Amino acid sequence: MSEKTSRIPKFYQLSVEERLRIVSEFAGLSSEEQEMLLKGGLDIATANRMIENVIGIFQIPLGIAVNFLIDGKDYLIPMVIEEPSVVAAASNAARWAREGGGIETWASEQIMIGQIQLVGVKDPYAARFEIIKRKEELIRIANEKDPVLVSLGGGARDIDARIIHSIAGPMLITHLYVDVKDAMGANAVNTMAEAIAPHLASITGGRFRLRIISNLADRRLVRARTRIPASSIGGREVAEGIYEAYAFALADPYRAATHNKGIMNGIDAVAIATGNDWRAIEAGAHAYAARNGRYEPLSTWELSENGDLFGTLEMPLAVGIVGGATRTNPLAKISLKILGVKSASELARVMAAVGLVQNLAALRALAAEGIQAGHMSLHAKNIAVMAGAVGDEIDIVAEKMVSEKTIRVDRARQILEELRNKKQP
Ligand code: NAD
Repeated sequence: MSEKTSRIPKFYQLSVEERLRIVSEFAGLSSEEQEMLLKGGLDIATANRMIENVIGIFQIPLGIAVNFLIDGKDYLIPMVIEEPSVVAAASNAARWAREGGGIETWASEQIMIGQIQLVGVKDPYAARFEIIKRKEELIRIANEKDPVLVSLGGGARDIDARIIHSIAGPMLITHLYVDVKDAMGANAVNTMAEAIAPHLASITGGRFRLRIISNLADRRLVRARTRIPASSIGGREVAEGIYEAYAFALADPYRAATHNKGIMNGIDAVAIATGNDWRAIEAGAHAYAARNGRYEPLSTWELSENGDLFGTLEMPLAVGIVGGATRTNPLAKISLKILGVKSASELARVMAAVGLVQNLAALRALAAEGIQAGHMSLHAKNIAVMAGAVGDEIDIVAEKMVSEKTIRVDRARQILEELRNKKQP
């Protein structure tokens, strides 16, 4: 185990400043970085270079999930998310996993797939043969486009071609496999796909159309596994409830969609915190979940004889620590520093661990007390704000609604009115 620990009891009870002090010590954040976390790090000039038609900067809270022990190393997890309870749930479930020895992970190579669509190919099977025969030359042409990636040990690795029968007739689809190392890889792969497309057209006598990365990144998989002692989650009965919740998701796509949404709560929050493209991750995750022709859960849960649970997660995770917004948004850089990850593969493994325990937390809440109990307090605060409460009023109104078990904006308005009337002399 590392000397730094992410096991921080009662972290949630500390003030924002105390939490920031602990995280800064853990990650070695400078005073400038701490200031950026409190006041916002992205300036308007940088934002204006990131997307088009900028008129402002939108903010979302950044929280830290504690207690993560992944492959024997302690991690503090930055999560950017607007939904209450997610950060708390991740921290709780990471503690349960820790009691079972932590979370183990594995990642494949960082291979992304570029697709080149060829239409009007007369003899597609013969053309496919020709492409494969000339793949060394095509790979060389692709690699000429990214000497930086090649110098780092990455680059185009292989080429294959498939014939698909579409409503617009047969098409020859070439797949270019690229090791993108520490990048998400879309720009790198798209550039290579565009470079080889004219050569593919002249080899096959067809016309090229689309030249674009596939977000079904099934050559870039990550896995996480953990053992959850029954005693950590409230006993055998709860463990059985979690197992039955998983069985429900396995048998029913309506439930599987929500099961996977729970996993993505954790994964997207880390993706956003680190400046990664969460739409790409989402697209890949759901396409992978449906790879067997039926939409299925991305995780599995097994119940052992003694009531302990074994959880696994397997999914594609195309994330980077260079390129895209990971380096342009200073807050993303700070998140990566807090995580202390040294490669895209390590970031993907950490994200898989977060997704797995996030899933567990949701299943436990559903199987044990029902999801609303955990959501109540923060939800009530949001409703109080909607009703017009400010400052101390927010907590007073929220607490009253929780104690009454009536969390509605009309009730919040009544309580607020009574409170303000009482305050008047
Ligand atoms: P990028 O082009 O900004 O950075 C990648 C480049 O960085 C590599 O090509 C390489 O030359 C260089 N590099 C330096 N050090 C590296 C290292 N250690 N490992 C790997 N490369 C290194 O970004 P990208 O990752 O190619 O593309 C990501 C962006 O593409 C994201 O912003 C994403 O939103 C966007 N995008 C996504 C899609 C999609 O998912 N369908 C489509 C188009 C664009």
